[in-house]
Amino acid sequence: MKKYDVIIIGAGPAGIVTGVTVKKYYPEKSVLILTEEKKGLVPCGIPYIFNKLNSVEADAMGPKPLLNLGGEVIVDSVTDVDLKQKIVYGNSNQEYGYDKLVFATGSTPTEATFIKGHNLENVFYIKKSYRYIQELFEKLENKKRIVIVGGGFIGAEVAEQLAAYPDKEITIIETEPQCFSKAFSKELSKMATERLRNTKVNVRTSAMVEEIIGTQGAVEKVILKEGEEIPADVVILSVGYKPNTNLAVKAGLPLNIMGAIKVDSYERTSVRDVCAVGDCSQTIGFLTGRSDHIMLASTATAEARVLGYNLFGIRIRKHFKGTLAVFSTKINGLTMASAGINENTAKDANVDFLTAEFTDVDRHPGTLPDASPLTVRINFSPCDGAILGAEVWGGPTAAEIINTLSLAIQKYITVYELISFQIGTHPLLTGAPTKPVIIKAAEIAIGMLNSNK
Ligand SMILES: Cc1cc2nc3c(=O)[nH]c(=O)nc-3n(C[C@H](O)[C@H](O)[C@H](O)COP(=O)(O)OP(=O)(O)OC[C@H]3O[C@@H](n4cnc5c(N)ncnc54)[C@H](O)[C@@H]3O)c2cc1C
Repeated sequence: MKKYDVIIIGAGPAGIVTGVTVKKYYPEKSVLILTEEKKGLVPCGIPYIFNKLNSVEADAMGPKPLLNLGGEVIVDSVTDVDLKQKIVYGNSNQEYGYDKLVFATGSTPTEATFIKGHNLENVFYIKKSYRYIQELFEKLENKKRIVIVGGGFIGAEVAEQLAAYPDKEITIIETEPQCFSKAFSKELSKMATERLRNTKVNVRTSAMVEEIIGTQGAVEKVILKEGEEIPADVVILSVGYKPNTNLAVKAGLPLNIMGAIKVDSYERTSVRDVCAVGDCSQTIGFLTGRSDHIMLASTATAEARVLGYNLFGIRIRKHFKGTLAVFSTKINGLTMASAGINENTAKDANVDFLTAEFTDVDRHPGTLPDASPLTVRINFSPCDGAILGAEVWGGPTAAEIINTLSLAIQKYITVYELISFQIGTHPLLTGAPTKPVIIKAAEIAIGMLNSNK
């Protein structure tokens, strides 16, 4: 049996970044990734396979960065782990010994077992699997009527992409009054849903699927609770993801109340030399310190860097005490992004906040041909002006502006400090230096705090 210093189970973003970071920081250590499939996918790119990329291969993601650093990758699905003997068992009957073990087994789509007919032929999920998505891609080529169940960002992004084909009829069914309601405030969810409606997508909100009906085993129509029937050649179920922890549970690792592997601030489980990272591991809410349920590639890779640097002893301290969901998307030309609390999460955590908003254009002068409107909304504490959350929407720069605001939240910056925030501007790249959107929103916030006194 060959023994490695580090074995990582899973070659998603978390597994690869952990491996690369370990090899960069500890080049003498042997690192092996065990993976289920030879080829992986850029998970966030999956919706774009169905139109913009128009190919599964164009979204392929591999472990080349790890191989380039001298790491090893073996395609062998792990079936068992003996945490006492420090042995990993592969489906190929191979055994691998380790010093440090990392679970990076990710997440899998939540099965919609609560919908009758969920297991009919031509009912699919958005799985992060090259083989599976290849099959779905080929299947969709000559199918006309596609019903997507679930209007979160994944369902909505897939719907938007498929709707760009003139010969396809796309329906999305969402139980909430708006799509995107988990990621965005009511107002922004509404805007995003309207954007989606302005494509060819038939958006059905406040609607619930009762049953999927098929003849000879293959899907034919979707029945809504109210009795309405929607004809369908393919149904895509996009009702959430859950941590993939079967292997960890089998090995005896404890889970938290969200069903994710319990870890400390450095991704270490309660078993010595065993860690877990990415979607399969627990997240702690940034503001609340409570168990949270954030599954994003950006979060997974941040955790992976923390783990990689500190796997053989804490060397670079982790500088976030909890996970801040930072999220962006683009639907029908509108970029939308959020970080930290919004009205839904604040209500849930009983956090008081005020909101200040400023809109301008993202070029100066605004008469430049590619200028787009840009709105920044800051959610801040009425007690001390600390920024607790933000939303930005409009032109494409919204996606990077939210990252700046994310840093502000993580560093407990207040709206008072934003007044002296030093920025760079350029006519072709940003709004005007006379009215930078973040700073103007902060000025409005300070006005509100002053009038509150
Ligand atoms: C369609 C879609 C769009 C998304 N868009 C975004 C986005 O825009 N921004 C963003 O931040 N996040 C996005 N996400 C979320 C993001 O994809 C996940 O957070 C990310 O994939 C987590 O990475 P991971 O490495 O933890 O897990 P995964 O990507 O799930 O990888 C886990 C890997 O482990 C392997 N594995 C599991 N069990 C075993 C085993 N027993 N043996 C060997 N290998 C095993 C799996 O095959 C898989 O390759 C999106 C997700 C989807 C599905």
